[in-house]
Amino acid sequence: MDKLFAILGDIHANLDALNVVLDDCRAQGVTDFLCTGDVVGYNACPRECLEIIRGLGCPVVMGNHDHYVSSEQNLADFNPAAAAVIEWTRGQLTEDEMNYLANLPFVKTTMGITLVHSTMDNPEGFGYVFDHLQAEAHFSHQVTPLCFHGHTHCPMIYEKQIGAVYRIDAQDFKLPIGRKYFINVGSVGQPRDGDPRAAYVLYNPKERTIRFRRLEYDIAAAQAKIREAGLPERLAERLEVGQ
Ligand code: ZN
Repeated sequence: MDKLFAILGDIHANLDALNVVLDDCRAQGVTDFLCTGDVVGYNACPRECLEIIRGLGCPVVMGNHDHYVSSEQNLADFNPAAAAVIEWTRGQLTEDEMNYLANLPFVKTTMGITLVHSTMDNPEGFGYVFDHLQAEAHFSHQVTPLCFHGHTHCPMIYEKQIGAVYRIDAQDFKLPIGRKYFINVGSVGQPRDGDPRAAYVLYNPKERTIRFRRLEYDIAAAQAKIREAGLPERLAERLEVGQ
């Protein structure tokens, strides 16, 4: 059977969004999953999402929330709402779940594809890539033709040709030979590009195609879970605007 990869990340404990994405993956005929990290944080179902992602048995890289939840990281400089959920999540997870998160790799290369949560020039620093200059620093470390990442929660394409790096809006396309791509797959559980629908990417290596998927899910259900858990109201509100 031909391979079809689903690349998903920034799930952020949003079970309602994750279930819809996985249903779509099954409908599309996905054979392999890859995860760009941040399984936990911001939403109220960290354990359920961890169980599902671990159950997929797929490569997963370390996101900053995964790292902060599972380490002694001081949260003083962190956004207060995000820090509140990290503290809460630490109290929810079992020792085994904490160990799983603590041992995720920062970079993973599998079947000629590289995964990183933020950038390869400093994967443990979790810097943000919003423009072609930031992508240029990353590309000097990208060995494989294709690397997927997340972290900004905004789907985007960065293309490296000889001597130049370009930023291209997320769109379905066919990979030309001889160029490198650094592709942001967007966020399953907390999109921030103004579109509240869950995001992930499909990659067909035989046809060399990349497809950006967006899916509606029950946002009200995810918001109700945030409120029920007593997590910051702003985290519920931002889901419906995709910011
Ligand atoms: Zn994230």
